[in-house]
Amino acid sequence: MCATTTGPPDQRFIECRNRCTYAIATAAIFQNRARKYTKYLQRLTFLGLALPASIGGVVAADLAGGGTLKEFIWIAGFVGVVQLIVTLWSAVADWPGKLESSLSASGENSRLADEFDALAKTFNNPPLNFDILFEKLKAQDGAQNIADKRQLITKEEEIYGHRAALYQFRIACAVCKNVPNSREIPGTVTTRCETCGGN
Ligand SMILES: [Zn+2]
Repeated sequence: MCATTTGPPDQRFIECRNRCTYAIATAAIFQNRARKYTKYLQRLTFLGLALPASIGGVVAADLAGGGTLKEFIWIAGFVGVVQLIVTLWSAVADWPGKLESSLSASGENSRLADEFDALAKTFNNPPLNFDILFEKLKAQDGAQNIADKRQLITKEEEIYGHRAALYQFRIACAVCKNVPNSREIPGTVTTRCETCGGN
């Protein structure tokens, strides 16, 4: 990924490498978002299935003489209200839509990273239509960057993406000079680096 070019500096190849790294960082951000929304939706589905299943179980137990039905109705009512609120929240926050757009952004950024990487690797023997391919890819990357920005990337997510790219290529952070030892931002650090989240 993101081949390191050798020889005299050619800005086009440097830009390919930089855009490749940036696309990898952005793909990591949206992969992380997709994981988050998948988890939310799984919990919501579980809640939707667990409540009727447990009510059925308790009713059956009560019919068998357990005598727990009255107390359980209160608990089931409370859980039902919680479920309703979470369902409304998921609809208002559009979790399914955000999952879909995160998967799409992650996939598109991964594709752009691969194509910039492939182009950067042609440094020693660039194809005749290099400039056409380069400009076409830059235009696609620019359009994707605009679409990504509409999804409001937070400062914390920027740090996560930057860290993921540094970790993938085993590169030291330009600010704290540390090579991240994991993709995840550590929970506790003595001094947090504002660029990579600290080690
Ligand atoms: Zn750092």
